[in-house]
Amino acid sequence: MRAELVAVGTELLLGQIVDTHSAYLSRFLSELGIDVYYHTSVGDNRERLKDVIRTAQSRSDLVLFTGGLGPTEDDLTKEAVADVLGLELIVHPPSVQAMETLFTKRGLEVPPSNYKQALVFPGGTVFSNPNGTAPGVAVTHERTTYILLPGPPVELYPMVENEVRVFLERLRPSNEVLLSHVLRFFGIGESHLVERIAPMIRDQANPTIAPLSKEGEVTVRLTAKAPDHERAWTLIRPVKDTIVDEVGQHLYGVDDDTLEVVVIRALAEKGNTLAVAESCTGGLIARMLTSVPGAGSVFPGGVVTYSDEAKHEWLGVSKEQIETDGAISESVARSMAKGAMDRLDADWGISVTGVAGPDPAEGKPVGLVYLGIAEKGRQTSVHRLSLRGSREKIQIWAAKHALFILLE
Ligand code: ATP
Ligand code: MG
Repeated sequence: MRAELVAVGTELLLGQIVDTHSAYLSRFLSELGIDVYYHTSVGDNRERLKDVIRTAQSRSDLVLFTGGLGPTEDDLTKEAVADVLGLELIVHPPSVQAMETLFTKRGLEVPPSNYKQALVFPGGTVFSNPNGTAPGVAVTHERTTYILLPGPPVELYPMVENEVRVFLERLRPSNEVLLSHVLRFFGIGESHLVERIAPMIRDQANPTIAPLSKEGEVTVRLTAKAPDHERAWTLIRPVKDTIVDEVGQHLYGVDDDTLEVVVIRALAEKGNTLAVAESCTGGLIARMLTSVPGAGSVFPGGVVTYSDEAKHEWLGVSKEQIETDGAISESVARSMAKGAMDRLDADWGISVTGVAGPDPAEGKPVGLVYLGIAEKGRQTSVHRLSLRGSREKIQIWAAKHALFILLE
């Protein structure tokens, strides 16, 4: 099935907003195994919109529009599609009713101009809009299906995730399943990872290979089409194995895993506990760990020791050591990790001390971070990181690094 997207709105052409809807819908459709061939942006202009519709009609099986379903004169998407297809729009009573209920609840009359939002295609499909007045509408005409969706994100996203998803799943050829498997990496940049698996990305067919980076992590989504689940796995497995052979040292999990979930799981399997001593991350690691249900069996607790005094009082780091080496140092990271582990009688202790910025500290550069990893009965190790970016980014990356190192 060949699909294309049309983003409608003069604001897009003026550069006042960026077309994030098309990026979102492209990802959404690719997960459903629907290939997107074109993105078009067009202003709120009836003639140009009709041109775009005629072009789409000639080359696509599925056309998705966003925007221009509002009540005003310049909201024209539905009217333009009806014009090109030669269809007469009809009133959809449930949408009229929903609109009247919404306005009555706010103590208002429905403005006459809003009623055009309750017009739909004869013989088409209507997607309800719990967050606004314009329903989404769809119609199939001469083997091409047109789906028109509202522009406001709060209206668009839930509509797509629910009713539009069901509609598209029915539209897809039913003699195949689509299976996605996500590989999750840390400690490698997207471009570096893509370079390492470049030949596979270049020659990809089934499964498709889609890398994506977010908050210092990279995911690679493998999506296979096959007659059944088992055969889809047979297609995915060798591709996964080859990727893991190449960059497996950065792989921390799959599918819905997160670093904190994987760390908690790994420690729970060994019956181990972990204590945390945080300086520049201000409790972020503790927050991440406690976001996982069942963290209590693994995580007795942690401390945020921001000042020199707190590091001394709560973790037993000696004042002389802090004076000589500085609080942001390998030796203090080591003592913090060991202190947390000992004081909470845990099997492991991790510590973070560093410069989150924006200004240097102790004459040390922004982004310099020491991570201490203490393990009962073993030497405490320290990792030195040079991170880049904003204060928040440095904090998040430092916290994730600490969890990732623990997995090694
Ligand atoms: P309204 O009832 O608000 O007029 P509409 O369906 O006519 O809804 P538009 O007027 O085109 O939709 O867009 C409404 C808002 O939705 C825009 O101001 C913008 O914030 C957002 N929006 C619309 N299209 C996009 C897009 N392609 N990418 C990102 N945001 C968009
Ligand atoms: Mg509008």
